[in-house]
Amino acid sequence: MDLDAEIRRLIEEIEPRLVEIRQDLHHHPELGFEETRTAALVADKLKELGFEVKTGVAKTGVVGLLKGRGEGPVVALRADMDALPIEEKNDLPYASGEKGKMHACGHDAHVAILLGVAMVLSRLKDKIPGQVKLIFQPAEEGPGGARPMIKEGVLDNPAVDAILGLHVWLDIPAGKIGVKTGPTFASIDEFDLVVKGSSSHGASPHQGIDAVLVAAQMVNALQSTISRSIDPTEPGVVTIGKIEGGYRRNIIADQVRLEGTVRCVRPEIRKQLEKKIRQIIQGISNAYGSDYELDYRHDYPPLINNQEVTGLVSQISEKVVGPENVIGVEKPTLGGEDFAYFLEKVPGCFFLLGGRNEEKGITAPHHNPYFNLDESVMPIGVEVLVRATLELLNKGEDDV
Ligand code: MN
Repeated sequence: MDLDAEIRRLIEEIEPRLVEIRQDLHHHPELGFEETRTAALVADKLKELGFEVKTGVAKTGVVGLLKGRGEGPVVALRADMDALPIEEKNDLPYASGEKGKMHACGHDAHVAILLGVAMVLSRLKDKIPGQVKLIFQPAEEGPGGARPMIKEGVLDNPAVDAILGLHVWLDIPAGKIGVKTGPTFASIDEFDLVVKGSSSHGASPHQGIDAVLVAAQMVNALQSTISRSIDPTEPGVVTIGKIEGGYRRNIIADQVRLEGTVRCVRPEIRKQLEKKIRQIIQGISNAYGSDYELDYRHDYPPLINNQEVTGLVSQISEKVVGPENVIGVEKPTLGGEDFAYFLEKVPGCFFLLGGRNEEKGITAPHHNPYFNLDESVMPIGVEVLVRATLELLNKGEDDV
């Protein structure tokens, strides 16, 4: 039997297991850095399959290493494990059994798919010219498990040559795969700003410094960062989502707090935006004689897919679902994804596995209390990951 047919046969064999695992995890959702039950389930399964297993990586992360024949290259694959603080409203036999917690982003399926990959690859050990590292990551929904896992050496010993990951995606119909090279998800920065003026009677504004007026000027001017300081063909967002301050109508406010988020898809634009935002806040504050405190924080970097690895994933996807079902995603999303940290260190590809199914009524968006996904797409995810991994390992071996 040729290898592709053998892979397909092995996946058919484990398909019921994928559903079982996903539904079990769905019924037992755990929030970021609390994924102890999930981690134990993953670790047990990996050990049973003959993986070398490390637990407790970045608190609840699990890493499994499968040694094939010879030294060879190392390919890593990552699944995130965390659920969200959302109360599930689906009426399903396996609906969340935990109050106020729900797998509303499909990470339950990601874990099931990666365990499926483990099951298939463990049966193909003699055909693996290198090693495969499976990374089960906590807390993707924040505060982020990828960075602490990297700090704890998940990409070293053995050093990873390439990395793959996927996300079940409800904007894409089941049976299709979305692939994009280059910038695919946004960087996420956030800031807290406190504008400090001084109070006086509302009828004597000249005796105070009006923090409401200063804040209003800042809110307006900050939008010009997008329209006037970055390339207009580049995506970017500055949002002030919260503003609060003042006492009542006849008192000049001495303090206003603002909370903002800043998103874009290129590291250089990320720097430009931060610089300009700082300049505008400082400049307006100086002009009005007010003071301020600014806490500007860098969260996830932009997710940038490697061209070569993405090309390979695209080719494999065409073989698995047919060329007509591989969507070349044109625009990045300005959501964030901490797989980006792995891609800062090693070349790789993060792709989208269609999970929407109108006929089955599976249409709710991610992070919605009615979120669900078409489970029949999980074998597609397993097949693309397995075949892309083998291809990368063989290619890497040729390079040596
Ligand atoms: Mn997600």
